[in-house]
Amino acid sequence: MLKETHRITVLTGAGISAESGLETFRGKSGIWNQMKPEELASMDGFMANPGLVWEWYRYRRTILATAQPNPAHHALAEWSKLCKDFTLVTQNVDGLHQVAGQRAVLELHGNIRLNRCLRCGKEEDAELLASHDGIPYCQCGGQLRPSVVWFGEELPRKVLDEAIRASDSCQLFLVIGTSAEVYPAAHLPEIAREHGAATLEINVEQTRFSSQATVSILGLASQAVPAVLQTWKSLNLQ
Ligand SMILES: [Zn+2]
Repeated sequence: MLKETHRITVLTGAGISAESGLETFRGKSGIWNQMKPEELASMDGFMANPGLVWEWYRYRRTILATAQPNPAHHALAEWSKLCKDFTLVTQNVDGLHQVAGQRAVLELHGNIRLNRCLRCGKEEDAELLASHDGIPYCQCGGQLRPSVVWFGEELPRKVLDEAIRASDSCQLFLVIGTSAEVYPAAHLPEIAREHGAATLEINVEQTRFSSQATVSILGLASQAVPAVLQTWKSLNLQ
């Protein structure tokens, strides 16, 4: 499955970031857990109370300020430099793949490290540790929002199209740290499989995809991904 495999596409999700200490969405406890997801992460919620939504995203950025990529992120970044045709698609918004040195990440749900202007659409880097409270504004006077995909919003079309292209042309598709249950991301491994690619899943528990995968590894991404990369290197870099 790994020998003479030079077109590889990877889909990552929350599981890979969990090992960097980032809880899934609202975590298990605390004040944010008592809010409805739509209050914190939808345009309606933002329109109703932008101050609250910004407080929530500032809180998440504060956590992100000290989060570091783990061995799984680093192994994927290394792999992308060794492999001719390597595409990384992620459902995560934390940007840890890029921190690990990964280039050209296809971010299906945007990036929490960026702000986007509601008026002119310009994107800019955000400070992870904000120097002031309240609602930030663009130079044009428009309100800024975090550049992530909220509930009820479409995934960025161009990113999704590229992800689909990379899925239907790869030889190997890896699913890492995601149950791949939410469409349209869930389509990607299916597309790869239908086009004859082998599929390898790495998750801490069985998922809907496990029974369809060519190989399913139950374990931590931080251990399994470096091990799979090591095997790929021994078979392909001679
Ligand atoms: Zn603007």
